[in-house]
Amino acid sequence: AATRIPRGRQFFANPGPTNIPDSILKAVAHVSVDFNDPAFLKVYDDAVAGVKRILRTQHDVFLYTGSGHAAWEAALVNLFSAGDELLVIETGYFSESWAKMAQDFGLKIRTLAADWRRGADFAALRAMLAADTGHAIKAICAVQNETATGMELPLPEVRAALQATNHPALLLVDTISSLGSMEFRMDDWGVDVAVGGSQKGLMLPTGMSFTGASPKALAAHAASTLPKSYLNWTHMLTRRHKSFIGTVPTSLFYGLQESVRLLEEEGLDQVFARHARLAEAVRRCVRHWSGNNGPQLFCLSPDRYSNSVTAVMMPEGHDGDALRRIALQVFNVSLGGGLGPLGGKVFRIGHLGDLNEPMILGTLATVEAAMRVAGVPHAPGGVNAAVEYLADAARS
Ligand code: PLP
Repeated sequence: AATRIPRGRQFFANPGPTNIPDSILKAVAHVSVDFNDPAFLKVYDDAVAGVKRILRTQHDVFLYTGSGHAAWEAALVNLFSAGDELLVIETGYFSESWAKMAQDFGLKIRTLAADWRRGADFAALRAMLAADTGHAIKAICAVQNETATGMELPLPEVRAALQATNHPALLLVDTISSLGSMEFRMDDWGVDVAVGGSQKGLMLPTGMSFTGASPKALAAHAASTLPKSYLNWTHMLTRRHKSFIGTVPTSLFYGLQESVRLLEEEGLDQVFARHARLAEAVRRCVRHWSGNNGPQLFCLSPDRYSNSVTAVMMPEGHDGDALRRIALQVFNVSLGGGLGPLGGKVFRIGHLGDLNEPMILGTLATVEAAMRVAGVPHAPGGVNAAVEYLADAARS
């Protein structure tokens, strides 16, 4: 199919970065200000207090100029010492990437292996923790929402496993593609470090990330000896902003204040319900397509479906990236690709952030059109399944 000059807005269905609402775009388009200017400090303090409410934490939050990887790194270097052992719950590409980063810092990794399509087994997690009678495991690293596979990890189960085995390990959670889209309760769920980023549920440009840190995490920090400087919490705590060793990215805070305002105006529970509704519409559509040997939901555990991203597995012999190219070049719809070993095997529909029914229906209809163009087998009419579901949801 021929490439076309795009007109109209691009439909952006990536699982991060996500669509930025116009009011946030306007808020970040701010002139430079002194980051110690009292008027800015008010905005800053207000935005940080908002992040704490969204994390549902009373604890400290440290913020970084850098994408989610910076917050991953901050969590590791601030808590651990060379040779410390971490238990990583395998979820997919992002749990592997975090583990690899920890290895780069000289940390030892034990993995709770799991099938990427089915998810981790909590009985096995309990058994691993129970067997660790010497408490060699210093922390569990858990990715709440595996963006590569479209699967959620139920965090209360992780906390329950720690409690059942009386294991003192810290609980580190990556909320990068769940925060502000799916329920997360840092304090209630006993999370010691929660890693978040700006460019997904918070609907901001990429470039800022943060970690909530419990008192237990701060105690571990005091004993940690991994080298650290720019990301060092102790240095940060000496600053007025309690974060940012260097210049504060002020524009992002005008945006963050607006992002928190938008999320709280809608109400977090309503935000989560909207994501659940749009996600279910996507899944019904994909389930319909799966007839005629069509594409299928990658996640095989219905109780763990992600409400922020759906990974769709291509039929054997068909390339997800070729389909994505058609969607982008012919129809101006941007979809997520498969990551790591899933490259070409899946494509991903991001349904998080600033999104409504017409946007998701437009995306689904266009994916169906692109499948026709690409000659990908499917049962036509998947969009009708989504239309029916969304209409029913609006009536009830
Ligand atoms: N963790 C998860 C679950 C993610 O989805 C991502 C990015 O998509 C990352 C970590 C890495 O974050 P960043 O790309 O912002 O560095």
